[in-house]
Amino acid sequence: PNSQGGQLGRLHEQAAKLYHHILVNTPAGQPALKYLLDRGMTRELIDQFNLGFAPEPTNGQPVLYQYAQQQELDYQFLRKSGLFVERADGQLQDRFHGRVMYPIKNANGQVIAFSGRILAKKAPANTPKYLNSPETPLFNKRQTLFNLDLAKQAARKAGHLTLFEGFMDVIAAYGAGIKTGIASMGTSFTSEQVQAIARLTSQLTIAYDGDEPGQAAIDRSLKLVEDTAPDLTLRVVQLPAGLDPDEYVQKYGSLKFQEYMTHGEETAVDFRLAYLRKDLNLQKQSELINYLNAALEVIATVPTPVGQSVYLKKLAGEFGLDLGSLERQLASIPAPRA
Ligand code: ATP
Ligand code: MN
Ligand code: MN
Ligand code: MN
Repeated sequence: PNSQGGQLGRLHEQAAKLYHHILVNTPAGQPALKYLLDRGMTRELIDQFNLGFAPEPTNGQPVLYQYAQQQELDYQFLRKSGLFVERADGQLQDRFHGRVMYPIKNANGQVIAFSGRILAKKAPANTPKYLNSPETPLFNKRQTLFNLDLAKQAARKAGHLTLFEGFMDVIAAYGAGIKTGIASMGTSFTSEQVQAIARLTSQLTIAYDGDEPGQAAIDRSLKLVEDTAPDLTLRVVQLPAGLDPDEYVQKYGSLKFQEYMTHGEETAVDFRLAYLRKDLNLQKQSELINYLNAALEVIATVPTPVGQSVYLKKLAGEFGLDLGSLERQLASIPAPRA
Protein backbone atom coordinates (compact mmCIF):
# COMPACT_ATOMS: atom_id res chain seq x y z
CA PRO A 1 0.00 0.00 0.00
CA ASN A 2 2.99 2.30 0.52
CA SER A 3 4.07 2.72 -3.08
CA GLN A 4 0.39 2.96 -4.13
CA GLY A 5 -0.20 5.41 -1.28
CA GLY A 6 2.94 7.24 -2.32
CA GLN A 7 1.80 7.52 -5.89
CA LEU A 8 -1.75 8.40 -4.89
CA GLY A 9 -0.43 11.01 -2.45
CA ARG A 10 1.75 12.50 -5.18
CA LEU A 11 -1.20 12.70 -7.56
CA HIS A 12 -3.22 14.54 -4.92
CA GLU A 13 -0.39 17.00 -4.26
CA GLN A 14 -0.05 17.61 -8.00
CA ALA A 15 -3.80 18.03 -8.44
CA ALA A 16 -3.88 20.56 -5.58
CA LYS A 17 -1.04 22.52 -7.23
CA LEU A 18 -2.76 22.42 -10.60
CA TYR A 19 -6.13 23.58 -9.21
CA HIS A 20 -4.43 26.36 -7.24
CA HIS A 21 -2.48 27.50 -10.29
CA ILE A 22 -5.69 27.60 -12.35
CA LEU A 23 -7.42 29.65 -9.65
CA VAL A 24 -4.78 32.29 -9.12
CA ASN A 25 -2.96 32.51 -12.47
CA THR A 26 -5.36 31.75 -15.31
CA PRO A 27 -8.40 33.36 -16.96
CA ALA A 28 -10.35 30.14 -16.33
CA GLY A 29 -9.94 30.75 -12.59
CA GLN A 30 -11.13 34.37 -12.65
CA PRO A 31 -14.81 33.80 -11.78
CA ALA A 32 -13.85 31.50 -8.89
CA LEU A 33 -11.22 33.94 -7.62
CA LYS A 34 -13.79 36.71 -7.74
CA TYR A 35 -16.27 34.48 -5.94
CA LEU A 36 -13.79 33.85 -3.12
CA LEU A 37 -12.65 37.47 -2.80
CA ASP A 38 -16.29 38.62 -2.83
CA ARG A 39 -16.98 36.42 0.15
CA GLY A 40 -14.18 37.99 2.09
CA MET A 41 -11.42 35.50 1.45
CA THR A 42 -7.95 37.07 1.16
CA ARG A 43 -5.13 36.10 -1.19
CA GLU A 44 -3.15 35.12 1.89
CA LEU A 45 -5.82 32.64 3.02
CA ILE A 46 -6.23 31.29 -0.50
CA ASP A 47 -2.50 30.54 -0.54
CA GLN A 48 -2.35 29.24 3.02
CA PHE A 49 -5.14 26.74 2.39
CA ASN A 50 -4.01 26.11 -1.17
CA LEU A 51 -7.53 26.71 -2.48
CA GLY A 52 -8.03 26.05 -6.16
CA PHE A 53 -10.47 25.82 -9.00
CA ALA A 54 -11.43 22.81 -11.09
CA PRO A 55 -12.64 24.25 -14.40
CA GLU A 56 -15.10 22.77 -16.84
CA PRO A 57 -13.39 20.76 -19.60
CA THR A 58 -11.68 22.97 -22.18
CA ASN A 59 -12.32 21.90 -25.80
CA GLY A 60 -13.94 18.80 -24.36
CA GLN A 61 -10.74 17.89 -22.50
CA PRO A 62 -10.97 17.30 -18.74
CA VAL A 63 -8.08 19.25 -17.22
CA LEU A 64 -6.83 16.84 -14.57
CA TYR A 65 -7.26 13.76 -16.73
CA GLN A 66 -5.23 15.40 -19.47
CA TYR A 67 -2.52 16.23 -16.98
CA ALA A 68 -2.47 12.65 -15.65
CA GLN A 69 -2.25 11.25 -19.16
CA GLN A 70 0.81 13.35 -19.91
CA GLN A 71 2.48 11.44 -17.07
CA GLU A 72 1.33 8.12 -18.52
CA LEU A 73 -0.33 7.07 -15.29
CA ASP A 74 -2.01 3.68 -15.18
CA TYR A 75 -5.74 3.59 -16.05
CA GLN A 76 -6.69 1.33 -13.10
CA PHE A 77 -4.69 3.52 -10.74
CA LEU A 78 -6.47 6.64 -11.96
CA ARG A 79 -9.85 4.90 -11.90
CA LYS A 80 -9.45 4.16 -8.19
CA SER A 81 -7.82 7.46 -7.24
CA GLY A 82 -11.11 9.19 -6.37
CA LEU A 83 -10.27 12.09 -8.67
CA PHE A 84 -12.09 10.72 -11.71
CA VAL A 85 -15.38 9.16 -12.67
CA GLU A 86 -15.77 6.50 -15.31
CA ARG A 87 -18.23 7.02 -18.13
CA ALA A 88 -20.32 4.12 -19.46
CA ASP A 89 -17.84 3.75 -22.36
CA GLY A 90 -14.92 3.40 -19.91
CA GLN A 91 -13.56 6.88 -20.56
CA LEU A 92 -12.36 8.71 -17.43
CA GLN A 93 -13.57 12.22 -16.64
CA ASP A 94 -12.56 14.64 -13.93
CA ARG A 95 -14.79 14.13 -10.88
CA PHE A 96 -14.53 17.81 -10.00
CA HIS A 97 -15.39 20.52 -12.50
CA GLY A 98 -16.78 24.01 -12.14
CA ARG A 99 -15.98 23.95 -8.43
CA VAL A 100 -13.80 25.82 -5.94
CA MET A 101 -11.42 23.21 -4.59
CA TYR A 102 -10.54 22.76 -0.93
CA PRO A 103 -7.65 20.33 -0.45
CA ILE A 104 -8.21 18.06 2.55
CA LYS A 105 -5.04 17.07 4.37
CA ASN A 106 -4.19 14.42 6.91
CA ALA A 107 -2.71 15.30 10.31
CA ASN A 108 0.74 15.43 8.68
CA GLY A 109 -0.33 18.04 6.17
CA GLN A 110 -0.43 15.75 3.12
CA VAL A 111 -3.29 16.18 0.65
CA ILE A 112 -5.49 13.07 0.77
CA ALA A 113 -8.80 14.28 -0.74
CA PHE A 114 -10.75 17.27 -1.98
CA SER A 115 -14.02 19.00 -1.36
CA GLY A 116 -15.38 21.09 -4.22
CA ARG A 117 -17.94 23.87 -3.88
CA ILE A 118 -20.15 25.22 -6.61
CA LEU A 119 -19.81 28.95 -7.31
CA ALA A 120 -23.48 29.79 -6.84
CA LYS A 121 -24.63 30.83 -3.38
CA LYS A 122 -27.34 28.19 -3.38
CA ALA A 123 -27.09 24.87 -5.17
CA PRO A 124 -29.58 24.14 -7.98
CA ALA A 125 -31.73 21.01 -7.55
CA ASN A 126 -29.84 17.70 -7.83
CA THR A 127 -26.45 19.43 -7.49
CA PRO A 128 -24.71 19.11 -4.12
CA LYS A 129 -23.26 22.39 -2.79
CA TYR A 130 -20.17 20.54 -1.69
CA LEU A 131 -18.86 17.44 -3.43
CA ASN A 132 -16.29 15.36 -1.54
CA SER A 133 -13.80 12.76 -2.74
CA PRO A 134 -14.97 9.19 -2.19
CA GLU A 135 -13.09 6.95 0.23
CA THR A 136 -9.73 5.76 -1.10
CA PRO A 137 -6.73 4.02 0.48
CA LEU A 138 -5.62 7.54 1.51
CA PHE A 139 -8.93 8.99 2.60
CA ASN A 140 -11.01 7.65 5.44
CA LYS A 141 -13.87 10.09 6.00
CA ARG A 142 -14.65 8.92 9.50
CA GLN A 143 -11.12 9.69 10.66
CA THR A 144 -10.41 12.89 8.81
CA LEU A 145 -10.76 16.40 10.23
CA PHE A 146 -10.25 19.44 8.03
CA ASN A 147 -7.28 21.61 9.12
CA LEU A 148 -6.12 19.22 11.85
CA ASP A 149 -2.53 19.57 10.65
CA LEU A 150 -2.43 23.30 11.43
CA ALA A 151 -4.90 23.26 14.32
CA LYS A 152 -3.01 20.68 16.35
CA GLN A 153 -0.04 23.04 16.59
CA ALA A 154 -2.29 25.94 17.62
CA ALA A 155 -4.01 23.69 20.16
CA ARG A 156 -0.77 23.17 22.06
CA LYS A 157 -0.68 26.87 22.85
CA ALA A 158 -4.41 27.51 23.21
CA GLY A 159 -5.18 24.35 25.19
CA HIS A 160 -8.18 23.43 23.08
CA LEU A 161 -9.44 22.63 19.60
CA THR A 162 -12.49 24.36 18.10
CA LEU A 163 -15.00 22.35 16.09
CA PHE A 164 -16.86 24.24 13.35
CA GLU A 165 -19.46 22.98 10.90
CA GLY A 166 -17.90 23.96 7.60
CA PHE A 167 -14.57 24.42 5.85
CA MET A 168 -15.35 28.08 5.24
CA ASP A 169 -15.87 28.59 8.96
CA VAL A 170 -12.46 27.07 9.71
CA ILE A 171 -10.79 29.25 7.10
CA ALA A 172 -12.59 32.46 8.12
CA ALA A 173 -11.79 31.81 11.79
CA TYR A 174 -8.15 31.19 10.85
CA GLY A 175 -8.09 34.52 9.05
CA ALA A 176 -9.58 36.13 12.14
CA GLY A 177 -6.79 34.73 14.31
CA ILE A 178 -8.49 31.62 15.69
CA LYS A 179 -6.23 28.89 14.38
CA THR A 180 -7.55 25.99 16.45
CA GLY A 181 -10.48 25.36 14.07
CA ILE A 182 -11.30 21.96 12.61
CA ALA A 183 -14.37 20.58 10.81
CA SER A 184 -15.68 17.10 10.22
CA MET A 185 -16.33 15.91 6.69
CA GLY A 186 -19.87 16.77 5.79
CA THR A 187 -22.23 17.02 8.70
CA SER A 188 -21.63 13.86 10.66
CA PHE A 189 -19.12 13.84 13.51
CA THR A 190 -17.75 10.39 14.36
CA SER A 191 -16.25 8.55 17.33
CA GLU A 192 -12.99 8.13 15.38
CA GLN A 193 -12.74 11.89 15.04
CA VAL A 194 -13.47 12.33 18.75
CA GLN A 195 -10.64 9.92 19.57
CA ALA A 196 -8.25 11.80 17.30
CA ILE A 197 -9.18 15.04 19.07
CA ALA A 198 -8.82 13.51 22.54
CA ARG A 199 -5.29 12.38 21.70
CA LEU A 200 -4.29 15.96 20.91
CA THR A 201 -6.01 18.13 23.49
CA SER A 202 -8.03 18.09 26.70
CA GLN A 203 -10.74 20.55 25.67
CA LEU A 204 -13.06 20.83 22.70
CA THR A 205 -15.09 23.92 21.95
CA ILE A 206 -18.05 23.36 19.63
CA ALA A 207 -19.12 26.36 17.54
CA TYR A 208 -21.66 25.24 14.95
CA ASP A 209 -23.94 27.46 12.88
CA GLY A 210 -26.46 29.66 14.68
CA ASP A 211 -29.51 27.92 13.29
CA GLU A 212 -31.85 25.11 14.31
CA PRO A 213 -29.84 22.32 12.57
CA GLY A 214 -26.69 23.73 14.19
CA GLN A 215 -28.20 23.57 17.68
CA ALA A 216 -29.49 20.05 17.16
CA ALA A 217 -26.05 19.03 15.89
CA ILE A 218 -24.36 20.53 18.97
CA ASP A 219 -26.64 18.42 21.16
CA ARG A 220 -25.71 15.26 19.21
CA SER A 221 -22.00 16.06 19.16
CA LEU A 222 -21.92 16.69 22.92
CA LYS A 223 -23.48 13.30 23.48
CA LEU A 224 -21.02 11.60 21.14
CA VAL A 225 -18.03 13.17 22.91
CA GLU A 226 -19.38 12.28 26.36
CA ASP A 227 -19.82 8.67 25.28
CA THR A 228 -16.51 8.38 23.44
CA ALA A 229 -14.07 10.50 25.44
CA PRO A 230 -15.60 11.33 28.84
CA ASP A 231 -12.41 13.08 29.99
CA LEU A 232 -12.52 15.66 27.21
CA THR A 233 -13.78 18.97 28.61
CA LEU A 234 -16.58 20.42 26.48
CA ARG A 235 -17.48 24.01 25.77
CA VAL A 236 -20.11 25.45 23.45
CA VAL A 237 -20.28 28.77 21.63
CA GLN A 238 -23.72 29.45 20.17
CA LEU A 239 -23.54 31.82 17.23
CA PRO A 240 -26.25 34.49 16.92
CA ALA A 241 -29.39 33.31 15.12
CA GLY A 242 -28.95 33.04 11.37
CA LEU A 243 -25.17 33.41 11.32
CA ASP A 244 -22.40 30.90 10.90
CA PRO A 245 -18.83 31.74 12.02
CA ASP A 246 -17.80 32.73 8.50
CA GLU A 247 -20.76 35.10 8.20
CA TYR A 248 -20.04 36.51 11.66
CA VAL A 249 -16.48 37.40 10.66
CA GLN A 250 -17.82 39.01 7.45
CA LYS A 251 -20.39 41.03 9.30
CA TYR A 252 -18.58 42.12 12.46
CA GLY A 253 -14.87 41.63 11.77
CA SER A 254 -12.05 39.62 13.29
CA LEU A 255 -11.81 41.34 16.66
CA LYS A 256 -15.51 41.03 17.44
CA PHE A 257 -15.37 37.39 16.40
CA GLN A 258 -12.47 36.70 18.74
CA GLU A 259 -14.36 38.38 21.57
CA TYR A 260 -17.49 36.43 20.80
CA MET A 261 -15.61 33.13 20.78
CA THR A 262 -14.09 33.92 24.18
CA HIS A 263 -16.97 35.56 26.02
CA GLY A 264 -19.74 33.57 24.34
CA GLU A 265 -18.40 30.31 25.67
CA GLU A 266 -20.64 28.23 27.92
CA THR A 267 -20.46 24.79 29.50
CA ALA A 268 -22.10 21.75 27.97
CA VAL A 269 -24.59 21.69 30.88
CA ASP A 270 -25.61 25.31 30.37
CA PHE A 271 -26.14 24.61 26.68
CA ARG A 272 -28.25 21.53 27.46
CA LEU A 273 -30.40 23.37 29.99
CA ALA A 274 -31.09 26.17 27.53
CA TYR A 275 -31.71 23.68 24.72
CA LEU A 276 -34.19 21.69 26.82
CA ARG A 277 -36.34 24.70 27.49
CA LYS A 278 -36.19 26.44 24.15
CA ASP A 279 -39.62 25.26 22.99
CA LEU A 280 -41.28 25.14 26.40
CA ASN A 281 -43.63 27.62 27.97
CA LEU A 282 -42.32 27.71 31.52
CA GLN A 283 -45.24 29.88 32.62
CA LYS A 284 -47.28 26.71 32.42
CA GLN A 285 -46.84 24.70 35.58
CA SER A 286 -46.88 21.29 33.86
CA GLU A 287 -44.18 22.32 31.41
CA LEU A 288 -42.11 23.85 34.20
CA ILE A 289 -42.23 20.62 36.19
CA ASN A 290 -41.25 18.59 33.13
CA TYR A 291 -38.39 20.97 32.52
CA LEU A 292 -37.16 20.78 36.11
CA ASN A 293 -37.22 16.99 36.04
CA ALA A 294 -35.24 16.92 32.80
CA ALA A 295 -32.85 19.61 34.07
CA LEU A 296 -32.08 17.55 37.17
CA GLU A 297 -31.27 14.57 34.95
CA VAL A 298 -28.75 16.75 33.14
CA ILE A 299 -27.27 18.11 36.36
CA ALA A 300 -26.93 14.53 37.64
CA THR A 301 -24.34 13.93 34.89
CA VAL A 302 -22.01 16.56 36.39
CA PRO A 303 -19.18 14.51 37.91
CA THR A 304 -18.48 16.53 41.08
CA PRO A 305 -20.78 17.50 43.98
CA VAL A 306 -19.45 21.06 43.84
CA GLY A 307 -20.25 21.28 40.13
CA GLN A 308 -23.73 19.91 40.73
CA SER A 309 -24.33 22.39 43.51
CA VAL A 310 -23.45 25.36 41.28
CA TYR A 311 -26.11 24.35 38.72
CA LEU A 312 -28.66 23.49 41.41
CA LYS A 313 -28.29 26.92 43.03
CA LYS A 314 -28.74 28.57 39.67
CA LEU A 315 -31.87 26.54 38.96
CA ALA A 316 -33.31 27.25 42.40
CA GLY A 317 -32.61 30.97 41.97
CA GLU A 318 -34.10 31.15 38.49
CA PHE A 319 -37.46 29.77 39.52
CA GLY A 320 -37.53 30.72 43.20
CA LEU A 321 -37.45 27.11 44.30
CA ASP A 322 -36.46 25.47 47.54
CA LEU A 323 -32.87 24.20 47.19
CA GLY A 324 -33.51 21.30 49.56
CA SER A 325 -36.21 19.75 47.39
CA LEU A 326 -34.00 20.02 44.30
CA GLU A 327 -31.17 18.36 46.24
CA ARG A 328 -33.40 15.55 47.43
CA GLN A 329 -34.66 14.82 43.96
CA LEU A 330 -31.15 14.98 42.49
CA ALA A 331 -29.97 12.47 45.10
CA SER A 332 -32.68 10.06 43.95
CA ILE A 333 -31.37 10.01 40.36
CA PRO A 334 -28.99 7.10 39.82
CA ALA A 335 -25.46 8.03 38.72
CA PRO A 336 -25.23 7.71 34.91
CA ARG A 337 -21.91 5.93 34.86
CA ALA A 338 -19.91 3.97 37.37
P1 ATP B 1 -20.91 27.92 2.53
O1 ATP B 1 -20.62 29.06 3.47
O2 ATP B 1 -19.85 27.74 1.50
O3 ATP B 1 -22.28 27.97 1.95
P2 ATP B 1 -21.22 26.26 4.85
O4 ATP B 1 -20.03 25.63 5.52
O5 ATP B 1 -21.84 27.42 5.52
O6 ATP B 1 -20.81 26.57 3.35
P3 ATP B 1 -23.46 24.59 5.49
O7 ATP B 1 -24.66 24.52 4.60
O8 ATP B 1 -23.57 25.30 6.77
O9 ATP B 1 -22.28 25.11 4.58
O10 ATP B 1 -22.99 23.07 5.75
C1 ATP B 1 -21.96 22.79 6.66
C2 ATP B 1 -21.01 21.76 6.08
O11 ATP B 1 -21.70 20.62 5.69
C3 ATP B 1 -20.25 22.20 4.83
O12 ATP B 1 -19.08 22.90 5.07
C4 ATP B 1 -19.95 20.88 4.17
O13 ATP B 1 -18.80 20.29 4.76
C5 ATP B 1 -21.13 20.07 4.53
N1 ATP B 1 -22.10 20.08 3.44
C6 ATP B 1 -23.06 20.98 3.18
N2 ATP B 1 -23.78 20.65 2.11
C7 ATP B 1 -23.24 19.49 1.66
C8 ATP B 1 -23.53 18.61 0.57
N3 ATP B 1 -24.51 18.86 -0.29
N4 ATP B 1 -22.76 17.50 0.44
C9 ATP B 1 -21.77 17.24 1.30
N5 ATP B 1 -21.45 18.02 2.32
C10 ATP B 1 -22.16 19.12 2.52
MN1 MN C 1 -25.10 24.85 8.53
MN1 MN D 1 -22.77 27.24 7.49
MN1 MN E 1 -21.26 29.51 5.47
